[in-house]
Amino acid sequence: MSRIAYVNGAYVPMSDAYVHIEDRGYQFADGVYEGITVASGKLIDLEPHLDRLERSLRELQIAMPMGRRAMTFVFKETVRRNRLANAFLYIQVTRGVAKRDHPFPANSSSTLVVTARRLDLAAVKSRASIGINVSSQPDIRWGRCDVKSISLLPNILAKQAAREAGGFEAVMYDKDGYVTEGSSTNIWMVTKDGTLVTRSTDDNILPGITRATLMQMAKDLQMQVETRAFKVEEAKSAAEMFLTSSTSCTMPIVKFDDTVIGGGTPGPAATRLAEAYWAYIEG
Ligand code: PMP
Repeated sequence: MSRIAYVNGAYVPMSDAYVHIEDRGYQFADGVYEGITVASGKLIDLEPHLDRLERSLRELQIAMPMGRRAMTFVFKETVRRNRLANAFLYIQVTRGVAKRDHPFPANSSSTLVVTARRLDLAAVKSRASIGINVSSQPDIRWGRCDVKSISLLPNILAKQAAREAGGFEAVMYDKDGYVTEGSSTNIWMVTKDGTLVTRSTDDNILPGITRATLMQMAKDLQMQVETRAFKVEEAKSAAEMFLTSSTSCTMPIVKFDDTVIGGGTPGPAATRLAEAYWAYIEG
């Protein structure tokens, strides 16, 4: 069965799914996106994802292509038409098609594209039981990383450099050596006294939905959480590290560059949180 995409009002086979070459997303990366995990048919944290999408669009003065209820229908229908139980749902909204010129066009309508592909949650879970290696990479992004822009060139370069260095993810750091976030994830460490530490979302990083969900879970589990910046060196001497994102869920980190973290196996705090997160999405 061919995959089905939603493109501006129509459900079409992938082979016919196109946008115009003068779409501003294509020409200027003038658009935003969201990525939602679907587990057993359920859209995980749908409302916060819609909130973040609306906020990203508002910040860039791009019109919502349709209301929340209609959009939710399109999301579910895209999953249904692709006959997927566990999926990665990708949503992209751009400022639309207009003659190439930098200022916002006077009248263009937003382009909405929605795709869904199978997500192997069992593989994510199995990777999480072993943990991953990460690689430090300089953060060369702009000053509005709170907006989930489709302009991902620095993130792509960081991820690629990390992969070439043997890391699954890039842990990006600012000019003062403080960890900002992963190329597509939020980064956490656990201090020797068991406190969870992650950078503030006021600090030019993406407010991760998984990060927020996990923050609440940690509080419910009476774990200490501190929101502050930490340096690469501090992370390397931490008891544990892990990352969060919609597709990686809660993923323990066992090696950071050449430094083995927590003896090279997922630590107790990350494992406890990962179990809580799996129960949440599978429950
Ligand atoms: N930071 C960046 C830069 C990302 O691209 C993502 C994933 N979209 C995240 C963090 C994690 O966000 P979420 O938990 O909402 O997937």
